[in-house]
Amino acid sequence: MSKLAYKRTNVYETADEKTMKNIFAYAERYKEFIDKAKTEREACAYVAAEAEKQGYKPYEFGAKLKPGDKVYYNNRGKNIYLIRVGTGDVKKDGIRIVASHIDSPRLDLKQVPLYESDGVALAKTHYYGGIKKYQWTTIPLALHGAVILGDGSKKEVVIGEDENDPVFYISDLLPHLSQKQNTKTLAEAFSGEDLNIWLGNVPYTAAKEDGDKTVKENLLHILYAKYGIKEEDFLSAELSLVPAYKARDIGFDRALIGAYGHDDRVCSFPAYTALLDGESQDKTVMVVLADKEEIGSEGNTGMQCAVFTDLIDVIADSFGTTSAAIRARSKCLSADVNAAYDPNFKDVNEPMNSTYLSCGAGLTKFTGARGKSGSNDASAEFMAEVRKIFNDEGVIWQTGELGKVDQGGGGTVAKYIANRNIDTVDIGVAVISMHSPYEVISKADVYEMYLACKAFIK
Ligand code: MN
Ligand code: MN
Repeated sequence: MSKLAYKRTNVYETADEKTMKNIFAYAERYKEFIDKAKTEREACAYVAAEAEKQGYKPYEFGAKLKPGDKVYYNNRGKNIYLIRVGTGDVKKDGIRIVASHIDSPRLDLKQVPLYESDGVALAKTHYYGGIKKYQWTTIPLALHGAVILGDGSKKEVVIGEDENDPVFYISDLLPHLSQKQNTKTLAEAFSGEDLNIWLGNVPYTAAKEDGDKTVKENLLHILYAKYGIKEEDFLSAELSLVPAYKARDIGFDRALIGAYGHDDRVCSFPAYTALLDGESQDKTVMVVLADKEEIGSEGNTGMQCAVFTDLIDVIADSFGTTSAAIRARSKCLSADVNAAYDPNFKDVNEPMNSTYLSCGAGLTKFTGARGKSGSNDASAEFMAEVRKIFNDEGVIWQTGELGKVDQGGGGTVAKYIANRNIDTVDIGVAVISMHSPYEVISKADVYEMYLACKAFIK
C-alpha cells in the first residue's frame, strides 16, 4: 500500500487485546448512562452526581475561582457546565471547551393533553426535534418529566422503565386495511396530530348514578390516587414520551450498541468522562452539556444562552483579565454525532467523505446544508492543530460530512461557540438511523471519541 495515500483506519481491525477490553468495558459504562439518562433533566442530574463524586462543587454566580477549583453549574436542571480550573496559565492558554447536547428527539405531551374517544383515553403530543413520525408508532413508550403541582411542589415522573411498569403506545393501521394509507408518502402517512398516546380503557364504574363514568374520569382518579396529579397540573407540566427500550448490543460480535438518544449522549458521555477520568490538571477545561440543540439551541438552557459567556466572564474576572482575552485564546470541540455510512442507503452518501462505523471519532470541518449554509466551517489551521493533537496521542479518527452535497444537511452548536470568537470544530460519533427511536453506534467509535476528548483537554 502507498505510504503517501490516506486510508481510514478501522479500530476493530487494528486494536490489540487490551484495547478491545477497554472498548468493551467503556461501552458498559456508556450503556448504564444512557439507560438512566433519557432526558436532559435526567442526564443533568446523573452528570452532577458523577461530578460530585470527583469533588466538583456547585458554582454560584458571584464566587471567584482559583487554580485547582472543580465546579459545576447546573442550569435549571436541564443544562450543565463542568469547569476544572487548571494549574497552568489560563490567561495564556484560554479554556479547552468540549460542548455537546443532552436533549434528544421525542414526543412531548401538549399542555391540555387528555381526552377520550370511543372508549379509549388518549393524550395529544407535540413532537420535539426532527422525527420521522411513522417510526414512533407501535413501539413501547415511557413517560418521563416533571410535574409542578398547584402548591409548587415538584413530582419527577418516570413510568415505563421498570419491568413491572405499564408502557404507552401509538397505534398504526393493520395492513389488511391500509390500501389507502399505502398510497401516501412516508411524510404524509402520519401527521403531528395523529401521534396520540394510548393511556387507558377502563371506565370509571365507581361513579354514583349521575357521575361521570368515562375512561378519562377513571384515568384522572388513577393519576390523583397514585401521583397526586390533577388535570390542571398538566398545563404547567413538562412530560415527554421516549422509547421504553434499554440499550442493547447489536450483532453476534457485539460491536455495536442500539439505544434511544445516542444523539447526542454518545458524545456527552465521552466529553464529561474524559474530564472526570483525566489525570492532567494543567489546562482549564469547560464541558458543556447543552439542552435545546434539537430545536435550534434556543432558550435559557440552550447553547445560545448568555450563561456560557457569563461563566467565561467569571474565569476572566477571577484571573484579572477580560472575557475577550480568554475567548480569543480558547478552543472548542463541538461534540455532536454525524450520519454513518449505511450500506442499506448508499445513495444519500458520498463514499469518500462519509464517516464509517468503527473508524473512530469523526472530525467534520463544516456542517450545514446546500452551499454550507448555517455552517461553522472550521479553519484549515485549527483543523490541522486538532489533527496533530489526535495523531500525537494515537487517537483513531476520520473525517466526513453529513450526506451528499445536495441531499440535505444539519447543524450543531458549533456556530454559536465560534461566533463568541472561539476556534471551534465539529467532532462526533457516527450514527445509523439518527433521530429514530433506536439508533445504532459502534463501541469502538464512542471509545475513540473518549480518547479524542481526553487528548484535546490534556
Ligand atoms: Mn446532535
Ligand atoms: Mn440531532
